[in-house]
Amino acid sequence: MAANIQCPNCQQSISPEAPVCPHCGTQIQSHMQQIGLTPGELTQPLPDVVKQFDASATTNMTIAGVLIAFYSGAIFAGKVISQGLLYSLLYALPIVLLLIAIILALRVSYPDGYLTDEYLTLIKKKEKRLQSSSIFLEVAIGILVISVFVYLIRPA
Ligand SMILES: [Zn+2]
Repeated sequence: MAANIQCPNCQQSISPEAPVCPHCGTQIQSHMQQIGLTPGELTQPLPDVVKQFDASATTNMTIAGVLIAFYSGAIFAGKVISQGLLYSLLYALPIVLLLIAIILALRVSYPDGYLTDEYLTLIKKKEKRLQSSSIFLEVAIGILVISVFVYLIRPA
């Protein structure tokens, strides 16, 4: 007799052969076949690394959000007058990059459905998006510093 598994819906211990959870009526076999998981994988709790991805993604979004608010506020309050296309692009670039960092971070927390992806694929996707988000955030901060510097030494 195989070890009991946990019902994905009500978490009660049930037989792995049971097609339907006797406690809540969730269809067990079809559910597992649908998402391509073995009973063992299904009962594994989400590892801490996944929670850390989500936490880091939230941190990235917060930093990027604060920087956008601060930077765009400074631009409009300072009535930055563009000295040409190149300057405009430079001033706008940090906001664009910060927005991309936020979008990528959002996609770490809300990937295209937990049930459509296999467990490892999901973790790899999260990791890749978090890395991309962090890279965009770092580059954005770098260019933000450059654009502030260029603004300070701009020709009068
Ligand atoms: Zn159940």
